[in-house]
Amino acid sequence: MRILVVEDEKKVRDFVKKGFEEEGHCVDPAADGQEGYFLAEGEKYDCIVLDIMLPKLDGYEVARQLRAKGNKTPIIFLTAKDAVDDRVKGLELGADDYLVKPFAFSELSARVRALLRRGKDKELDVIEEGGLHVDLRKRVVRRDGKAIELTPREFSLLQYLIERKSEVVTRTMLAENVWGYHFDSGSNVIDVHINNLRKKIDGDFEKPLIHTIRGVGYVLEKRD
Ligand code: CA
Repeated sequence: MRILVVEDEKKVRDFVKKGFEEEGHCVDPAADGQEGYFLAEGEKYDCIVLDIMLPKLDGYEVARQLRAKGNKTPIIFLTAKDAVDDRVKGLELGADDYLVKPFAFSELSARVRALLRRGKDKELDVIEEGGLHVDLRKRVVRRDGKAIELTPREFSLLQYLIERKSEVVTRTMLAENVWGYHFDSGSNVIDVHINNLRKKIDGDFEKPLIHTIRGVGYVLEKRD
């Protein structure tokens, strides 16, 4: 998943970012409302965690402008105030949920999961290709029945590839969606992770599923 975290308090921003990254998600941080709005408008996120009291543009205004532009990305407001008025105002402006600070990361994570489930009824939980079986909900990977252990980052990479199986995925797409907006796609980090993923997914099997498209990126597909 790709998540935008708009929060001016560095401590909270870092702790939320770290928490989501440990779960294998990709996080773009923004320190004020303007930067948050800019990223939300230009990039594609699965969810936005949006503080209300922000410099430059407050959270209400960010949400209002995004919704006015037809952006339907789920939003969870973070608020230091727990007055009913604020909650009602946030929900009226198009937020999907809110969380009162201070909060435990596990609570935020559970809210995000619940929010994404609501919109995901029709999407697949399990994707298969050439004997590779990926259960996105349980985060379990098997090939020809054999369980494969992946790190959270490798799992995110595999998820991104298999959700677009038979489509060419560029290094920029991987950089932005698996690592984040600020990630340098020119570094060799992507190759290192792809190689590790390959060893685990294709290493012990006759037919590789992950293929390199020279100078462009990668494709995951069964080839005869
Ligand atoms: Ca704040």
